[in-house]
Amino acid sequence: MSQDTYVENSLPSSVDVAIVGGGIIGLSIAWQLARAGVKTVVVEKNTVGRAASWAAAGMLAPLAEVGFEELEFLKLGRESLAMYPTFLAELEVDSGVAVPLDRRGTLMVSLDRDDTAELRRLFEFRKKLSLPVRWLSGAEARDEEPLLSPKVAAAIDLPDDYQIDNRELLVALEQAVLKCGGKLCEHTSVEKIIVESGRAVALQLDGGEQRQISATKIVVAAGCWSSVIGGLAKDKLPPVRPVKGQILTLRMTTDIALTKVVRSPRVYLAPKFDGRLVVGATSEEMGFDTAPTAGAQLFLLEEAFDAVPAVYELALEEMRVGLRPASRDNEPLIGESPIAQLYYATGHYRHGILLAPATSYAMAAMLTGKKVPEALAPFSPSRFFNVTRFSTALTT
Ligand SMILES: Cc1cc2nc3c(=O)[nH]c(=O)nc-3n(C[C@H](O)[C@H](O)[C@H](O)COP(=O)(O)OP(=O)(O)OC[C@H]3O[C@@H](n4cnc5c(N)ncnc54)[C@H](O)[C@@H]3O)c2cc1C
Repeated sequence: MSQDTYVENSLPSSVDVAIVGGGIIGLSIAWQLARAGVKTVVVEKNTVGRAASWAAAGMLAPLAEVGFEELEFLKLGRESLAMYPTFLAELEVDSGVAVPLDRRGTLMVSLDRDDTAELRRLFEFRKKLSLPVRWLSGAEARDEEPLLSPKVAAAIDLPDDYQIDNRELLVALEQAVLKCGGKLCEHTSVEKIIVESGRAVALQLDGGEQRQISATKIVVAAGCWSSVIGGLAKDKLPPVRPVKGQILTLRMTTDIALTKVVRSPRVYLAPKFDGRLVVGATSEEMGFDTAPTAGAQLFLLEEAFDAVPAVYELALEEMRVGLRPASRDNEPLIGESPIAQLYYATGHYRHGILLAPATSYAMAAMLTGKKVPEALAPFSPSRFFNVTRFSTALTT
């Protein structure tokens, strides 16, 4: 917990915007609002930034991640990535913390004939969309990354997919919220959202009826827990579920170090500037289970070894489990909920780090009555709820 975070006896009783959940999404929105002069509080049941957002690999990879039917995600993802330089520059000014964007690029590799046929399909799809991609032979791929296995048969070079140290980013965001005058209320659970006459008006916190924060607007940014917050009818809750991801951190050495993100068909290896090599990740429908399993570690290490055999020599530093917030269609919900003055910013699934700039700029715009970018329209919660109402903006 940061020294400046809110203590029990100084909880604000009333704010302009109350945000449930202090992951990358809640913190980014709180920062944007606070820097615009909006009185904002984030209520976080544990420590801010330590759930899915901490477990993530930090890849900013719309080109590698886009699926055949995901052109709207591609548009939003590319827009969000393009916002990152400004987002980070503003963040440095507000937090005093510089978080570098890692532009060393990404290689998607194939390891056998089947993989290569599939990789070719992925390449042609990206080519057709005129995305900046290049086909490499196995030998050309090894020229780029000499630690790649001799088994690597081909690769797609994606120089425009970046990555970031998501943990540094979370620390900077926490500082920026506080320095801009936002409030963080940690180790406090939101038990329910209080709705009166069809409007969300306050948060009921744990520890008794009297512990409430009234708010002009409320944002649910509680990751995979967004669908289990009390006070709302089941059919008004965001349809979000947890998808378990197990992920490992190895420690690179001076001799054994990757420079680019390497994505095999089954795992990725993301080298960080500080010498960590993040290997991820499983994708498991296990509800809220967060137990690390031997099988997952075995799978991740075997697959990483297949693509980059030298990982065998590296020290194993961390095993972590995170719960991705996935919606029914696996796309985020960003915007008005079916309840007046209640907003959802959740369901970011595998892309919450990538989509933090686009989400936070859009939510801040929406909450302060400014124009919201077009690219956000397909991600409105109304696709699940049929929202027809528009609420009034805050005046700041
Ligand atoms: C293994 C793994 C790898 C990933 N890799 C990437 C990647 O490379 N790139 C990328 O873009 N994305 C990645 N992701 C996805 C990304 O981590 C998520 O999309 C993102 O972190 C979601 O952020 P969030 O703020 O919505 O959720 P979270 O970070 O989970 O934060 C939600 C917060 O809400 C709090 N909360 C919940 N309920 C309550 C309550 N009732 N009261 C108060 N607080 C509450 C929680 O304690 C938590 O801190 C990865 C995820 C995983 C698990």
